[in-house]
Amino acid sequence: MAQRYVRVQNQEGQIYYGLLQLSLNVQVLDAPPWLQGQPTDLTLTPENYQIMAPCAPSKIVAVGKNYADHAAEMGTSVPSEPLIFLKPPTSIIPSETEIKCPPHSQRVDYEGELAVVIGDRTFDCTPEEAQTKIWGYTIANDVTARDLQKRDGQWTRAKGFDTFCPLGPWIVRELNPGARLQTFLNDEPNPVQSACIDQMVFAPDFLVSYISQVMTLLPGDLVLTGTPFGVGPLLIGDRVRVEIEGIGRLENIVAAR
Ligand code: MG
Repeated sequence: MAQRYVRVQNQEGQIYYGLLQLSLNVQVLDAPPWLQGQPTDLTLTPENYQIMAPCAPSKIVAVGKNYADHAAEMGTSVPSEPLIFLKPPTSIIPSETEIKCPPHSQRVDYEGELAVVIGDRTFDCTPEEAQTKIWGYTIANDVTARDLQKRDGQWTRAKGFDTFCPLGPWIVRELNPGARLQTFLNDEPNPVQSACIDQMVFAPDFLVSYISQVMTLLPGDLVLTGTPFGVGPLLIGDRVRVEIEGIGRLENIVAAR
């Protein structure tokens, strides 16, 4: 199994980056791994930590309509260049916690996505250089108030509510380019979304290069690479699970705020 990089909180509220071992113990690092964090002597046993989202980015840059079949289901074509928007870092929640539907929206959708974690300060890089700036990969759910997205035109409110970016549960360094992304609701055996990540219109290295022409990406920042066909609503009480082969599964419960 690939090395799993986690971020955890102990019972005193102290936050650590670490390596998740097969025993589920966490070997603590002395810094974020993309800042050359090294293993320490401290190991946390499962009853002594809570899993957090695996990074704490300065910003989350997300990409719209990056799978052709999803653009079609939204009634649009694929953009000729990446369509980017921001989600606030305050929208992040870890796996196994609650997505809180706000009273402002009657239609909150899941969007399962591959998330790319940036490892280096990155400005104005080429796609080739971007490959060395991508530190690892995790799973995100770009939760969206679809009614507000349509009503506002701007996407900040629809995409920006607290809890609208489930993330994790951990980061891996390598990913098979043909890995499958799937989203499941409750105990349904059939996924509501299923696509290989190589069906993306703009690949992760191109996206990182494109975004870096606009803004400096910092270590720990996130790029959400877009969702495939099959978006749909979440109802109070639902459990939503996004899986990516070679990473794991991100699962959250839907609740009213
Ligand atoms: Mg999305």
